[in-house]
Amino acid sequence: MSEPKTQVFRADLHCHSTFSDGSYTPHELVDLALTLGLSGLSITDHDTTAAYPEVFDYAQTKGLLMLSGIELSASYREEPVHILGYGFDIASEALGKLCSHHQTRRERRNLTILHKLSRLGIAIDPELLQGQMGTCGRPHIAHLLMEKGYVGSIQEAFDRYLGEGKAAFDPGELISVEETIETIKKAKGKAILAHPHLIKKSSTVKAMLKMPFDGLEGYYARMLKSQEQKWLRLAQEKGWLITGGSDFHGATKPQSRLGSSWVNQEIFERLST
Ligand code: AMP
Ligand code: ZN
Ligand code: FE
Ligand code: FE
Repeated sequence: MSEPKTQVFRADLHCHSTFSDGSYTPHELVDLALTLGLSGLSITDHDTTAAYPEVFDYAQTKGLLMLSGIELSASYREEPVHILGYGFDIASEALGKLCSHHQTRRERRNLTILHKLSRLGIAIDPELLQGQMGTCGRPHIAHLLMEKGYVGSIQEAFDRYLGEGKAAFDPGELISVEETIETIKKAKGKAILAHPHLIKKSSTVKAMLKMPFDGLEGYYARMLKSQEQKWLRLAQEKGWLITGGSDFHGATKPQSRLGSSWVNQEIFERLST
């Protein structure tokens, strides 16, 4: 006799759409989430909420619960720190302003990167970046480098030119962790420290644990079990929420599958209110 199938609530809270550096449109992400048996999803594009509010309606008609989300780029003493925002008001003026600020910061930074590439003998027309809707950054430049045959893979583009400290790298204007958390809170959202195990400096980790985050991302695709335990313990000690997601990008980063990390209904609901 076969066991009755109980539908377990799983919500993936970290993925990227074509409005940043993912290869699936928001609608395709909703469809894929349902195919994989997920009950909830949050699309967390880099520095933009452009997928919303339209995708809310689509998800609703399809029967998938959707939580507003974003992954904001911030810095602490020049080290990049990614901050997830959830359950915020998508009409928030403060968050809208921060996203516009990122847009301008990125336009300038992309031009600087293209200029550095041109000095290395690699000519890329800035107009080629114009077609991107939403956020445009290093992954898009990496793509052009590949298309034009300068590199054989996205990874090679980062390793040779675009990665931190490489010849065409530019950090652009830095936006602080403090300002980012404050903005998410002004928008009535929860501020979560994204993939904390990827922070390189222990001094940055120490400082982040003193910041007014609401939680950290303790479940993340391909995080080692030993790391996961450390972060779950730290979150519990601080009384922080523990979130999870795959950081799915589709073809842009094929290693992580949608739904490979997730949260239960209780966490999903606490982030929604
Ligand atoms: P940006 O926000 O423009 O600085 O680009 C950062 C994004 O580039 C990250 O979110 C990653 O998805 C991607 N990225 C960063 N480093 C690498 C790498 N070494 N290989 C491939 N993708 C990378
Ligand atoms: Zn990304
Ligand atoms: Fe990130
Ligand atoms: Fe991400």
